[in-house]
Amino acid sequence: MARRPTRPTRTSSSARASATARASRDDAPCLCGLPASYGECCGRFHAATAAAPTAERLMRSRYSAFAVGNEPYLLTSWHPATRPSRVDLDPAMRWAGLEILATTEGSAFHTTGTVTFRARYTRRGEAGALHERSRFERHDGAWVYVEGTFVE
Ligand SMILES: [Zn+2]
Repeated sequence: MARRPTRPTRTSSSARASATARASRDDAPCLCGLPASYGECCGRFHAATAAAPTAERLMRSRYSAFAVGNEPYLLTSWHPATRPSRVDLDPAMRWAGLEILATTEGSAFHTTGTVTFRARYTRRGEAGALHERSRFERHDGAWVYVEGTFVE
């Protein structure tokens, strides 16, 4: 999830601040779809108290970070070679669910991996989906996002 599926528009700093404030409670169900609380699931990765063990878990934690507007996590989990200077979070975007469709490699025994997923969202009342194949690598031992290509 590098790019927003909609045409980029300038986002005011106040709008981005409100997106960033959309935090998830530790005991709420994790937004990534795994049957765990946010605090036990992606919240640990966002707080840097644990590292995502697989490319899929990193993908899920990046989806959660988009959903809660955690720009710092999106940047630190991005490969330095492809990392943008900032992430244009759209405050009108409401991420509505993540479905992992396929993975290749990306386990504890690999240094690269891909995750194909569909992320559903609503934006100003319109439902849409982002269908992407993302590429991940280990950088200094930690899984990071490299780049994604739209499947459709
Ligand atoms: Zn999670």
